[in-house]
Amino acid sequence: MSETRPRVLVVDDDPLSRRILEQVLVSAGYAVDSAADGQEALARIRAHRPDVVVTDWQMPVMDGLTLCRILKGTDETRFTHVVMLSARGETEAKVTGLETGADDYLVKPIEPLELQARVKVGLRLQRALLELATKNEILEKLALTDPLTGLANRRAFQEALEAEVSRVGRHGRPASLLFLDLDHFKRVNDDHGHAVGDEVLAGFAQVLKRGCRRGDLAARLGGEEFAVLLPTTGRLPAALVAERIRRATQAHPLGRTVQAAVTVSVGISSTENPPGPVDAAGLLGHADAALYRAKTEGRNRVASG
Ligand code: GH3
Ligand code: MG
Ligand code: MG
Repeated sequence: MSETRPRVLVVDDDPLSRRILEQVLVSAGYAVDSAADGQEALARIRAHRPDVVVTDWQMPVMDGLTLCRILKGTDETRFTHVVMLSARGETEAKVTGLETGADDYLVKPIEPLELQARVKVGLRLQRALLELATKNEILEKLALTDPLTGLANRRAFQEALEAEVSRVGRHGRPASLLFLDLDHFKRVNDDHGHAVGDEVLAGFAQVLKRGCRRGDLAARLGGEEFAVLLPTTGRLPAALVAERIRRATQAHPLGRTVQAAVTVSVGISSTENPPGPVDAAGLLGHADAALYRAKTEGRNRVASG
């Protein structure tokens, strides 16, 4: 079974103090590891990822202050809670310790009950920080995802497009873009209701995903308008992808509760051959114009801009 107790690392050059600190923390229910100086501590931290580090200040090889500075300056250990222990009880020393990045400062001699309480507070804070970081990650992802289809949303697409266009500029590889708009989609809503319309949109998103290769980015720009970014793809292969998606859309009615037939019109733009635009706005404009042409020429077709 893997270790589930919170992990605490004790760092002290004095073997007796180290043993006492270890005992105090083991008796509080923690999994305790130890090191004799900052250098050794860094190796233990890399191997064991403690939740809290309790470190002495004055030690040979690498002191607690330096250890603290390294931990707080490194992404992986920034949130590791550091309790600094020192014989120096004057305000100036405490301020130095805390400003270097220690989250807490205790003056020796250490009161066992107080150390246990301080470590407990550290774990509480750390858990809250991690929860916040996880929530932030989820929120960031949500901000870039279309909730109905699970595809990238317009913002995510715009960001990816800008990044790809700057790569095209640097490396000279082509990139292409598909704009897709479902044909007479309003009729689906009119004939079957908005809920079925939503199902068709979600079903079409699956068709898009299946039609894309790894590295392509499919997005819902809004309503029944979609786009696919095809990095390192020239005009001809982009046209093949577009045609495959068009045919797959036509082949099977979409929707979960009601089978509703839809078709899709696609506009292509490419940075390649004849030299196309190499800025995001230009690519979007060409794809939009091509899509308009596909619509006016009869829908359920692919046009290249
Ligand atoms: P065209 O072939 O010219 O594209 O015709 P269209 O009917 O697809 O285009 P139009 O832009 O006239 O209508 C789009 C419709 O898409 C109207 C709107 O109610 C519907 N729609 C937009 N967003 C959603 C959505 O999230 N869910 C559903 N069910 N319908 C949507
Ligand atoms: Mg439409
Ligand atoms: Mg539309």
